[in-house]
Amino acid sequence: MNNAEELRKLDRDAIWHPYSAMHSDAPVYHVVAADGVRLKLANGQVLIDGMASWWSVIHGYNHPAMNQAIERQLQDMAHVMFGGLTHTPAMALTKALLAITPAPLSAVFFSDSGSVAVEVAMKMAIQYCAAKGEPERQRFISLRSAYHGDTFAAMSVCGPVTGMHSLFADVLPEQVFVAQPQCRFGEPCTRRDIVPLANALAEQGKACAALIMEPIVQGAGGMWFYSADYLQQARQLCDEHDVLLILDEIATGFGRTGKLFACEHANVAPDIMCVGKALTGGYLSLAATLTTENIHTTIDSGDPGVFMHGPTFMANPLACSAAVTSIRLLLESDWQANINRIASALEAGLMPCRRLSQVHGVRVLGSIGVVELNEAVDMQTIVPKFVAAGVWVRPFGKLVYVMPPYIMAREDLDILTSAMVSVIADI
Ligand SMILES: *Cc1c(COP(=O)(O)O)cnc(C)c1O
Repeated sequence: MNNAEELRKLDRDAIWHPYSAMHSDAPVYHVVAADGVRLKLANGQVLIDGMASWWSVIHGYNHPAMNQAIERQLQDMAHVMFGGLTHTPAMALTKALLAITPAPLSAVFFSDSGSVAVEVAMKMAIQYCAAKGEPERQRFISLRSAYHGDTFAAMSVCGPVTGMHSLFADVLPEQVFVAQPQCRFGEPCTRRDIVPLANALAEQGKACAALIMEPIVQGAGGMWFYSADYLQQARQLCDEHDVLLILDEIATGFGRTGKLFACEHANVAPDIMCVGKALTGGYLSLAATLTTENIHTTIDSGDPGVFMHGPTFMANPLACSAAVTSIRLLLESDWQANINRIASALEAGLMPCRRLSQVHGVRVLGSIGVVELNEAVDMQTIVPKFVAAGVWVRPFGKLVYVMPPYIMAREDLDILTSAMVSVIADI
């Protein structure tokens, strides 16, 4: 089983990839190693990675300090159950997270993926409301075009049209959806922009436990950057209606947008916050849901007096060590200058796209670069073109976007953006 053809056949015949069909002719590339910002394929080709493995690999692949942290932890223990037991990596990570997240957050619940962190956030909100005598608050308000994950409760708060989950509509809890904010990042939020949310809260707020949002950047639902002012007004409205605010920082956390957490653009603190993706620098699967003292003490005071969740691999020590090291590397680096540097390179490099007739618009925020096309791309043909150009870019729908590792050098950023320009011009 070491022949590349044979392996490829096995992959095609028996392995599912995300949102894919078995036996598909869609290209799947065999990666044998990754180092820095480069992926090495089985055929010897090397690609510059524009995706950071879906937002997560912020320090690059095969990072010596990250490798060392995991190797050292492996000598002590790879894993131990978290029920009734604890360990230093989890405690060190809790300390690190509480030091960098908004002040009111004071408690952490660890889980193994972003979707589960969202499930946990939603359960926290419902348990909190029940514990304070409002068990009728069971629903959630969410924005159209939101993406919060693929498990059932998370799916229920994904934008119904862009959320990729319409097949399951009948079994999902019905949530309250509000129009996507049209006010762009950097622009004010007008009365017209906020009215749909204000109305939803006025009309259905009493049946709702929380408003859940991706702060500033709507990711997989459309790569849309909206006004910080909108987020600020949303926070105020939640307070007025006694509805909790859950911020899903799974994509935006750890510097990606130019702030450590995107909610800082609006000077807003959530009641519950989810982090994942870049938490471990892309090394291992780990996520966390953070909340305030008021919420966890209220939950503890209610019935049954405990928070009802507990994953088998909760706070895996290897993943926690990776996360502690990733946060340390981030804070020790001049990450803000790095993000600004990438933002300038993306702005400059993607500028020629603005003149292309295929292109609807180009937007850059922090180290996220998005080219929105007029028509959806054909994945079957566009991905091989990127690979031929020596870069890894995986578009979806009308969106060709990149969010490179923070360490990507200017020359590599230029190769990446030139490839985007020439591939898009050639559509
Ligand atoms: C990726 C993502 C999730 C889901 O995380 P998984 O680890 O894929 O389960 C949830 N919310 C946002 C904003 C995301 O980008």
